[in-house]
Amino acid sequence: MPSLTKEHVLGALRKVMDPELNKDLVTLKMIKDVQVQDSQVAFTIELTTPACPLKEQIKQSAEAAVLALDGVESVDITMGAQVPQDTKIKDLSIKNIIAIGSGKGGVGKSTIAVNLAVALAQSGAKVGLMDADIYGPNVPTMMGVDALPPTKDGKIQTAEAYGVKVMSIGFMVAPGQPLIWRGPMLHSAIKQFLQDVDWGELDYLIVDLPPGTGDVQLSLVQTVPLSGGVVVTMPQRVSFDDAARAVSMFKKMDVPILGVVENMSYLKLEDGTVMRIFGEGGGQDLARTAVAPLLAEIPIDEKIRAGGDQGNPVVVADPESPGAQAMRRLAESVASRMSMEIRK
Ligand code: ADP
Repeated sequence: MPSLTKEHVLGALRKVMDPELNKDLVTLKMIKDVQVQDSQVAFTIELTTPACPLKEQIKQSAEAAVLALDGVESVDITMGAQVPQDTKIKDLSIKNIIAIGSGKGGVGKSTIAVNLAVALAQSGAKVGLMDADIYGPNVPTMMGVDALPPTKDGKIQTAEAYGVKVMSIGFMVAPGQPLIWRGPMLHSAIKQFLQDVDWGELDYLIVDLPPGTGDVQLSLVQTVPLSGGVVVTMPQRVSFDDAARAVSMFKKMDVPILGVVENMSYLKLEDGTVMRIFGEGGGQDLARTAVAPLLAEIPIDEKIRAGGDQGNPVVVADPESPGAQAMRRLAESVASRMSMEIRK
């Protein structure tokens, strides 16, 4: 029997597809460090995001394919990830910048941004969260941080919570003081947030945009090199027109829409009854209009609200609750849509 070689292993892995990217793992250059010693094989699979929803499936298929080779007794797979760089982003060590927008306030945009950022960090990604919501900078409260550390070497330092680097427009004004931002002022604050803040190296920077689609939002979308946008909406009909404007804003600025999130989709009672308090179909309709997927339907969950008020996001406070699980699945969908978009 011919002895087993690296080529045999790669040959077997050429038949294993990434179900989302629809190409095999070797062609996608995901296989690294193949080692063969007698009947023992080891290699690394490098995914395009640590939050890959198909991680286990890909690992198992690869393992089965290599084990099926003659002469293989054991396979040791290390799972790694390298988030692809968006080449639009220059002079920053940030790979992808993702904006969370909404047509109006109160739909849960900040709640989604916070839980998305924390869930991505929990998966192993390096994550920053920039709160640009001038009308209601709630991210510090929701993340349980209230001040920035002192500047270091001329660089503004971020606050840090739950493995996420946090910067907020709310840190720049005294609490309770009204925020009257004019276009140029906001523009320079956001530029400073990108250039003078010590973000370190990030896989994802999540930007919580102000709600709405006016000049302020437009100028923000122009100032920040956005890799993708996510629009948060609610199920009821009256949310649709506002949310559709948020979709148009991203499209007009050539920001790829990663998808739509329908928040507060339903309330599930203890006896299992599902109540559609805010109606239904809003998320689906918007996704159709945006020609983008409906990424998640997030339930109304008291724990999501409490997590926000207590500065302890639900994905940390109660990771197995339905609300947290929905947020985690959302983070996986956003991450995989983002890498597909970059690889296009
Ligand atoms: P926005 O950023 O769109 O103005 P917020 O994220 O501040 O909205 O959310 C508004 C309020 O609704 C907050 O009190 C938040 O905790 C609550 N909330 C958001 N999403 C949910 C949800 N799925 N279940 C329960 N409460 C929620």
